[in-house]
Amino acid sequence: MISDRVRSLSPYKTETTPARIKLSSNELSLELPEFVKKRLAEEVSRIPFHRYPDPEARLLKEAIAQRFGLREENLLLGNGSDELIYYLSMAVGEFSRGIFYPVPTFSMYGISAQALGRERVEVRLKEDLSIDLQESLRAIREKRPALAYFAYPNNPTGNCFEEDKIKSIAEEVPFTVVDEAYYHYSGKSFVERALSRQDTVVLRTLSKIGMAGLRVGFMVGNEEVVRELNKLRLPFNITFPSQVMARLMLTEFYWLIEEHVKEVVRERERVYRELRRMEGIKVYPSEANFILFKSLLLPAEQLHIRLVEEGVLIRDFSHMVPQCLRVSIGKPWENDAFLEALEKVLKTLDK
Ligand SMILES: *Cc1c(COP(=O)(O)O)cnc(C)c1O
Repeated sequence: MISDRVRSLSPYKTETTPARIKLSSNELSLELPEFVKKRLAEEVSRIPFHRYPDPEARLLKEAIAQRFGLREENLLLGNGSDELIYYLSMAVGEFSRGIFYPVPTFSMYGISAQALGRERVEVRLKEDLSIDLQESLRAIREKRPALAYFAYPNNPTGNCFEEDKIKSIAEEVPFTVVDEAYYHYSGKSFVERALSRQDTVVLRTLSKIGMAGLRVGFMVGNEEVVRELNKLRLPFNITFPSQVMARLMLTEFYWLIEEHVKEVVRERERVYRELRRMEGIKVYPSEANFILFKSLLLPAEQLHIRLVEEGVLIRDFSHMVPQCLRVSIGKPWENDAFLEALEKVLKTLDK
């Protein structure tokens, strides 16, 4: 007896097509030097994994707090920020009231709402990918959602919405979540606002800075909000290896992550410039570690397939944004391979 709520869901989609170069999931291309791997292996080999891990993941929480200049009381850790999105959708407001988010955006806001039987109050972004404030406020006044999600920067579009528009909408809904999964690439944050009020929280994750496989996300919020949401948290939601490895990366080896993040920001600007001068491509500016672009000469699905044939996997988003694809920024050689493959495919069209 599976409910209609669940039957009507579509599973979270991700690209699993095998390819030589994978630029489809906004991961950080992080190649660990041997000595780092050895150090991680050492620590992991000491884990008494017949025991439950620390349910509060205290040492990891301490490392996150120190690394990002936060206090432990303001942190709630999740098995990826995906888990925290579920908790927020469960905890905020009654289920009879909906959840607002501009679209296209990250699919988990809608999936969590639908799974709980909550109305999805979706408002399309404008042609330039900015928030349609008038239409958003109209929808909110009509439907009275209890919660608003903003991905900041937004995925898959790559832009940060205007701060003033987010604040205007936040004034009209009881609770606001600012999902800063790509904070390290934008440098823009609502953390101060979240810490000073009870109606706003920020989500962050280690996934986009080289630790996607560890599944560690965190919420930053007022102590009171953290305490309440913590009651929903599944016990032991951060595995023992994840607690140990993430802590080590944030303390001893964070310099390595910082270097890679800087390189990605540099590469993002280079890839953007290269895409801009390609005929048949319209590219959108990005403050994240990926770029959205439109294919003007070839249907996006076909371009996607042609790139896979060239050994490069990116993400086709044409189901969400007409004719658009999203490419993650990788190491310089990976980005070169993408640009060359794209150029090659486009060239065959001229004739
Ligand atoms: C990738 C992504 C997440 C998911 O992060 P996890 O911590 O890996 O669950 C959340 N929000 C946005 C906008 C993302 O792009």
